[in-house]
Amino acid sequence: MKNITDEPMFETKAFKLSKQEESLCKKARNLGIKKFAGRAYKYDDEAVFPSENYQDLYREGLLGICIPKKNGGLGANFRCYMLTAAEIGRYCGATALTWNMHVCSTLWTGILADDLNMSARINKEHNKKRAVHYKRIIKNGAIYSQPFSEGGSAAAGATPFLTIATPTKNGWIINGKKIFASLSGHASYYGILCTEKKPGEQSSQKDTLYLAIPSDAEGVSVIGDWNPLGMRGTVSRTLIFKDVFIPKEDALMPKGKYYDAAKRWPHMFLTLSPTYVGLAQAAVDFTIKYLRGELPNTPPVKRRMFATKQITVAEMEIQLENIKTIWFQSISEACVNPSPQQIKRAYATQFTVMEGAHKIAQLAIRTCGGQAMLKSLSLERIFRDSRCGSLMLPWTAEICLDRIGKSSLYNPGEKD
Ligand SMILES: Cc1cc2nc3c(=O)[nH]c(=O)nc-3n(C[C@H](O)[C@H](O)[C@H](O)COP(=O)(O)OP(=O)(O)OC[C@H]3O[C@@H](n4cnc5c(N)ncnc54)[C@H](O)[C@@H]3O)c2cc1C
Repeated sequence: MKNITDEPMFETKAFKLSKQEESLCKKARNLGIKKFAGRAYKYDDEAVFPSENYQDLYREGLLGICIPKKNGGLGANFRCYMLTAAEIGRYCGATALTWNMHVCSTLWTGILADDLNMSARINKEHNKKRAVHYKRIIKNGAIYSQPFSEGGSAAAGATPFLTIATPTKNGWIINGKKIFASLSGHASYYGILCTEKKPGEQSSQKDTLYLAIPSDAEGVSVIGDWNPLGMRGTVSRTLIFKDVFIPKEDALMPKGKYYDAAKRWPHMFLTLSPTYVGLAQAAVDFTIKYLRGELPNTPPVKRRMFATKQITVAEMEIQLENIKTIWFQSISEACVNPSPQQIKRAYATQFTVMEGAHKIAQLAIRTCGGQAMLKSLSLERIFRDSRCGSLMLPWTAEICLDRIGKSSLYNPGEKD
């Protein structure tokens, strides 16, 4: 039977992909089809981390996708990473989402940091430190996570982080809590954001530190259970840091540079979106195979001859094209110091992807019908996983709407 819908999501010719983009997307798609798709049910059903997928990602060099070639990585740029991640999200949302957190620890400390005009001294120090992190990933298969959320407004970028790093002579003592910490108990290092502060001092976002905490450091614990609606394989439990000592060498970025990046390289927060672009594509892939009677493990019954189903498929395809088009534009134009229009488009992109992926999954369930939503089939998981995209800080659907509306109606500094 011909596998009609596992064509590339972004055709090389139409989207003018580079050789590297084409080949990494192909690699991701092959991994997805041959390995990840078949394992996704178990990770979701048992809410367990996709460890086998991570072994494959390591073997294929994909843990180092954004690590510069001179440090042993694949040297992919922002767009190349995003396109590759979308192909992975198509086959296993939880793998793509957690892989994103890992990759960001290399992307932000790498290409993004290079755009931030550090002084020669700070740059030299940063180069030395990031080489250590990169080596851990390339040589030992270390996995980094990205636990920023604390349940307050810090992860939304509104207030300083409540996890505190008290400076000592050689490093910091960390105290605090992170909720929804994907990869908890599975990452080798937790890449946390926290506020550097001496006792009695005021907190400031400018003092944000981005540090790598070894998961086996004394004072680190993982608590709580994990039994959510979707993205169950992310294992996003709660992390507690109690008087954890971190040496200066374990800083992922120089002090204040994360804050700088968030302001000057805002597309860094679009990195959660490729997973959901992949899920949107997966819902369409499923629907077409199912209605043609070509989905493995289902009876070869054709359901495509009803006009209502054809119309719904057309609506899904139109929504998918809309998602892909705005997303491709935003990931292509991502840069340091983007214009207000580019930033607004990035928020619109995030909203369109996160809300759109779930809408497509809803249409898929409706048009495929009752038998298609059995837990044994991937659509039911895609439906639940896709619901999680809009909740992800710092660019939740509400925050995107809020910022687009305000920035359209008010010039900077304008008040009523
Ligand atoms: C599957 C999954 C995996 C995750 N993994 C990670 C992870 O690895 N690391 C990590 O750091 N976080 C992770 N998160 C957490 C996520 O980014 C959010 O922090 C979390 O969902 C917020 O939950 P909350 O209940 O505190 O909601 P709230 O933050 O209270 O949000 C509730 C509502 O308030 C809105 N809101 C919140 N802040 C503002 C604001 N300042 N302005 C306007 N509206 C606002 C939101 O849009 C939302 O509608 C994950 C979440 C999920 C669902």
